[in-house]
Amino acid sequence: MSDEEELNFCAKCGGPLEKKVPDGENRVRDVCTNCGHIHYRNPHNIVGTVPTYQGKVLLCQRAIEPRKFYWNLPAGHQEMQESTLEGALRETIEEAGAQLTDVRPLMLLDVPFASGTHVYFTGEVVNPDCKPGPETLRQNFFSEDEIPWEKIAFNSVKRALRLYFADRKQGIEQFHYEIKEKPGKE
Ligand SMILES: [Zn+2]
Repeated sequence: MSDEEELNFCAKCGGPLEKKVPDGENRVRDVCTNCGHIHYRNPHNIVGTVPTYQGKVLLCQRAIEPRKFYWNLPAGHQEMQESTLEGALRETIEEAGAQLTDVRPLMLLDVPFASGTHVYFTGEVVNPDCKPGPETLRQNFFSEDEIPWEKIAFNSVKRALRLYFADRKQGIEQFHYEIKEKPGKE
């Protein structure tokens, strides 16, 4: 999920790009030296869910890189013309085959140093006999004690799980907004 892929050529005309501050702007952009097209790059949203069933959480074991064989929550890139909720539910069906009910927002995790925002919802799985999609090797429901914490695919997923279980322990439902600082930053 890197956003550091550099563009070399114009998406419109194939001309070479240069880095410059366009007139009237204050940031360096990739600008086509041929047609002048400005290539804007903006943060991307990752949308997902914490699917639950009778207090346990559904995790999917990844069948694909990155972090193949690690455990993950159903999540992926929000598509164009899609709400974060729609995207999260779509990913949950695609990756876990699971329909959710009683869905509510759980966490918005801003990761500005990686230009990403992670939005997680939580909801109860309608039918626990759900079948995983092609990006998932297998899946299972885990209680907090059973979660393979050392084998969780991404820190954002770990955070969503921690918040879910902490709230559940206290018997509260709340929405968390957090900003993740770059590791090592004061
Ligand atoms: Zn161009």
